[in-house]
Amino acid sequence: MHEMGIAEQLIKIAIDSIPQDIGNPKVEKVNLKIGKLASVVEHSLTFCFEIATKDTPLENARLDIDFIPVTVHCKSCDNNWEVTGPVFKCPFCEDGDVEMITGREIEITSIELVD
Ligand SMILES: [Zn+2]
Repeated sequence: MHEMGIAEQLIKIAIDSIPQDIGNPKVEKVNLKIGKLASVVEHSLTFCFEIATKDTPLENARLDIDFIPVTVHCKSCDNNWEVTGPVFKCPFCEDGDVEMITGREIEITSIELVD
């Protein structure tokens, strides 16, 4: 289960992003975007997050996860498209010179503090 490592990373980043001048900050919600190929299981991440946030400003914060589709770019014909399966060949020119643009990211988009 690699979700614990991810949860710990996210908590560290979230805490680092809280402005220093806020005394006793409390995070209400963490907005995330996670690529579909990042192989993150939502309920595992939520579970790990809950455990790992104990006694931190993120305790009881909610995770709002936006799953990002996998999109690929073809260097030969310059097309972008969304893929749902493991086939990474360009459907336009049939070339294989493609690169993934989105699909593996695990990022915090924003955090929301309790007033
Ligand atoms: Zn192409």
